[in-house]
Amino acid sequence: MTKIKHVLGISGGKDSAALAIYLKNKYPTLDIEYYFCETGKELKETYNLITALESVLGKRIKKLKAAPDYEDDVQFDVFLNKYGGYLPSSNSRWCTRALKLEPFEKYVGETPTLSYVGIRGDENREGYISQKPNIQSIFPFRKNIWSEEIISKTLTNSNIKCLTDITATNVHNRSKDEFIKIISEPISYNYDRNKKLNDLLTISISSFNKIVYEYMKSLNYPISHLNEYPLLENEDNLVREDIFRILEESGVGLPKYYDKLEFELDGQKGYYARSRSGCYFCFFQQKIEWVWLYENHRELFSKAIDYEKDGYTWMQDERLEDLIKPDRIKQIKEYHLKRTASNSNSKSSYLIDILEEAESEGCAACFI
Ligand code: SF4
Repeated sequence: MTKIKHVLGISGGKDSAALAIYLKNKYPTLDIEYYFCETGKELKETYNLITALESVLGKRIKKLKAAPDYEDDVQFDVFLNKYGGYLPSSNSRWCTRALKLEPFEKYVGETPTLSYVGIRGDENREGYISQKPNIQSIFPFRKNIWSEEIISKTLTNSNIKCLTDITATNVHNRSKDEFIKIISEPISYNYDRNKKLNDLLTISISSFNKIVYEYMKSLNYPISHLNEYPLLENEDNLVREDIFRILEESGVGLPKYYDKLEFELDGQKGYYARSRSGCYFCFFQQKIEWVWLYENHRELFSKAIDYEKDGYTWMQDERLEDLIKPDRIKQIKEYHLKRTASNSNSKSSYLIDILEEAESEGCAACFI
């Protein structure tokens, strides 16, 4: 029988850490390999989180290096040199590809692999995931554990007859007729794929998973090599609050950069924090997070400024030297205070809910 790998990338963020703990507790028989892609530019809180996780998981988290002949702390710099000092940006995210995706794909090789991704049930995105055919992503925190690609193949109209036959043979409870009714309804302008998917999941998540799994046996996906798969029975849907709970209950806790810190502006109190893991100079961070870095990690901020010396900048519209002018800092804080005040009625009490407005831009490899 073909051996398949189960892997989980630890980004340094809360969701991948919680997923590792969740899977260890709920599916202890899954032999998962954990890995972390070294950029050399993480905050020290990320390394603290990794150490704490290793102790809770009872396993090492393998460090993957894109430039194995170089020291950990220059991994990003090796590639920056290759790119002639051209800093990455959301439109040219060479860093994620070179430092995260490529080392991951090299580590997996050609082995059929299930890669667990911590996108939550309250998020609507897939992330930036490997497209290699031998790597299949599974999303255990969501009702729909399958990738978009698999759902699209499974629910395509030309597959209706095949799915109906699978359901007739494999679903043995009262929901069989309901499934067949929904499966037989073609996707159309008035009945889109998401609606159909939700209707099927609403009947029974585990039966739907079983139908997808049976269909996939006819295709050459990593999961096709398994005789059984415990996550087919998983009916959980985990949201942000669950992630905080899992981390707190495990003793690992939240990465410290999420802690909100107080600042004062013209006698008014405000709070700021960093909203996600990743490199300290990540271009995805918001202006207020740059201010947080400047005021709480001055030496890292200075290093980020050094990277701009060749004329390239981390933000399209502003150099870091300009962002730290006193008037500009004041302006950014004022804007942040207004924003946090207008969000103070939001259902969540977490500061990162306000900071993470651009969450969907992030990538699975860096921020989950
Ligand atoms: S955290 Fe940001 S800068 Fe670092 S690799 Fe990811 S996208 Fe690039």
